[in-house]
Amino acid sequence: LVRFDRVVKRFGDHVVLDRLDFSVQRGEHVTLIGPSGSGKTTILRLLMTLERVSDGVIWVNGEPLSHMRGADGNLKPANEKHLREVRRKIGMVFQQFNLFPNMKVLQNITEAPVNVLGLGREEAEERARELLDLVGLSDKVDAHPSQLSGGQQQRVAIARALAMRPEILLLDEVTSALDPELVAGVLDLLREIAHTTDITMLVVTHEMNFARDISDQVLMFDSGRIIESGSPEKIFSDPEQDRTREFLSAVL
Ligand code: ATP
Repeated sequence: LVRFDRVVKRFGDHVVLDRLDFSVQRGEHVTLIGPSGSGKTTILRLLMTLERVSDGVIWVNGEPLSHMRGADGNLKPANEKHLREVRRKIGMVFQQFNLFPNMKVLQNITEAPVNVLGLGREEAEERARELLDLVGLSDKVDAHPSQLSGGQQQRVAIARALAMRPEILLLDEVTSALDPELVAGVLDLLREIAHTTDITMLVVTHEMNFARDISDQVLMFDSGRIIESGSPEKIFSDPEQDRTREFLSAVL
């Protein structure tokens, strides 16, 4: 479903991703781990088209993400319209929940389905209520984000991402900004989503038990490269690289 093909990302002279190759199959849950600054968030931002690759190609569904086919069949750089189409299929949840502060919970969730997907308001609201039920916040339909705890806000952000029926869900350290006692609830919700839906997931997390539970594949990053990849059993129990072992002993 997703393939990074010799992807390079530079910010000025700083090479953040260095000829990166990896693939994600449809329905697969892939966790990105590694030290701070190793390029994990940049990968999600590239997929979300919030950043452009410096070199190489990202393929989604057999189509290049950053390019589009012209009338002559050749590839050319994507325009904004093409990027908007791509973005529709991908949902992202951030460390900071980024809810619309001036909208009630229900409207936070219905806004994009109505304005981007063109869903009728009633249909969007019905779906939003189902999602709020899924994330355990049925009683907060009319609340404003500021009236919710961090964990509740993050649940709304998850419901908002799911409301777009994404093919791919990107989760970027979604529990890092939460008070410790709120982390478990959000991780349990994400476990449930991982185990009961067929959404493809790319997850950046420092929660290694969570990563172990949901991942089909774990990618260990260091300095913009994947230094080791494999099943969670292999990476967490029997890593090959000293760097991986060092990293895991620091975070576990
Ligand atoms: P963390 O766990 O701290 O979020 P990360 O592995 O996700 O780290 P990235 O956020 O992808 O790492 O950042 C990789 C490198 O790219 C960092 O050195 C960062 O300073 C740099 N970087 C990211 N975004 C930009 C930007 N917009 N301009 C310049 N440098 C950037």
